Amino acid sequence: MTERTTCLIAGGGPAGMVLGLLLARAGVDVTVLEKHGDFLRDFRGDTVHPSTLTLMDELGLGEKFAALPQSRLNEVSLPTEGGATLTVADFRLLDVPHPYVAMVPQWDLLDLLADAGRDEPNFHLRMNTEVIGLRYDKRRVAGVRYRTAGGELGEIAAELTVGCDGRWSIVRTLAGLRPHEFPVPMDTWWFRLPREGDERAALVPGMRRGHFAIVIPREGYFQIAYLARKGLDAQLRAEGLDAFRARVAEVLPDLAHQVGKLESMDDVHVLDVRLNLLRRWHADGLLCMGDAAHAMSPIGGVGINLAVQDAVATARLLAGPLRDGRVTRRDLARVHRRRWLPTKLVQAIQRLMHRVIVRPAIEGRRSGPPKMLARVLGLIPGAKRIPAYLIGVGLLPEHAPEFARRP
Ligand SMILES: Cc1cc2nc3c(=O)[nH]c(=O)nc-3n(C[C@H](O)[C@H](O)[C@H](O)COP(=O)(O)OP(=O)(O)OC[C@H]3O[C@@H](n4cnc5c(N)ncnc54)[C@H](O)[C@@H]3O)c2cc1C
Repeated sequence: MTERTTCLIAGGGPAGMVLGLLLARAGVDVTVLEKHGDFLRDFRGDTVHPSTLTLMDELGLGEKFAALPQSRLNEVSLPTEGGATLTVADFRLLDVPHPYVAMVPQWDLLDLLADAGRDEPNFHLRMNTEVIGLRYDKRRVAGVRYRTAGGELGEIAAELTVGCDGRWSIVRTLAGLRPHEFPVPMDTWWFRLPREGDERAALVPGMRRGHFAIVIPREGYFQIAYLARKGLDAQLRAEGLDAFRARVAEVLPDLAHQVGKLESMDDVHVLDVRLNLLRRWHADGLLCMGDAAHAMSPIGGVGINLAVQDAVATARLLAGPLRDGRVTRRDLARVHRRRWLPTKLVQAIQRLMHRVIVRPAIEGRRSGPPKMLARVLGLIPGAKRIPAYLIGVGLLPEHAPEFARRP
């Protein structure tokens, strides 16, 4: 038997959960299908920017968010070739309620959104349920086929299907939407090291000719992203654990005494970094957003926040048509138009950063940002506010629509 909902969301990541919550608050019947049994995934986007923090307040979730375990990042700095530190973005200069980046485990944020969703009678979240196919009504997408972890198969009919199923989106593939891929010079390897008061190590990324590393302070440990040439994974694993420890010690001398605690290369998780953008985010009856529409580089930690902004724009523009029971291609094109430029701009900045900072560093040509950057930042008063704004707030920031706001 075919079940029914008004908006079917494939994927319970930041994009899917925010969209589901907002539409449910608009009175739209929403079903979110998430293939995993929980949100507990290590090494995900944990950088919650001022735009998302403001949204949490508007949704009436600010206090609950503030109670989550978190650390704060006030600025983005890079080491220079001369051994000094260059601050390239200062969030404290922003005129926003939360002028910092909150580092919060993504699963805590998703649990909080799921809890808020449970208060809404129209919000239905089904875990352990994987979208495996699309349903069609003539040529229009009209819902999905799914399989539960227990092997049960089913179908849900929907007026709108939204692909929030991440960078390897099956919904996108099934709908025949193909992203344009931009070349990326690096991959990222994630791992943990114990945190024993080595706070200094987390302040500035480590940068040496050939590689660099970013240290994220977490409760009781450091989460570390080691960045090096794309496709290096097989070589790193062939070189073995001791060689990898030596690389880390070189690029993060403040943590050299801890590298012995990395016990196996199995604890080092590679992320195949992608930067891509769908030419068209929609088909008849279907929309893609978040990573499914645009995988982002880790530079600036913008992935979660863009996904959330996509969701807010979508809820704002489509709640009315969904309540009326008819979403046209023109409605979907409005979402694409609204979110294309902010996404494109951030990707353009990330590609520039790859070219002028990341590539020269991992090709061993330089071990710091170009000197010109320091001069420009020094010459223009308030220059550190511009990158902070573009990273932390972004172009065309979205705010919770009236229907979604709570005190
Ligand atoms: C290792 C790593 C580190 C990252 N670090 C950062 C960072 O520091 N800061 C940052 O902002 N971003 C970071 N990102 C990116 C960030 O996680 C994503 O940009 C963000 O989570 C995108 O949200 P989303 O909802 O679009 O997709 P996702 O978060 O990928 O969520 C997609 C969801 O869909 C589910 N799903 C997939 N297929 C199906 C299916 N067929 N049926 C049902 N459910 C399905 C998945 O299980 C998942 O829960 C990182 C990503 C990775 C992989």
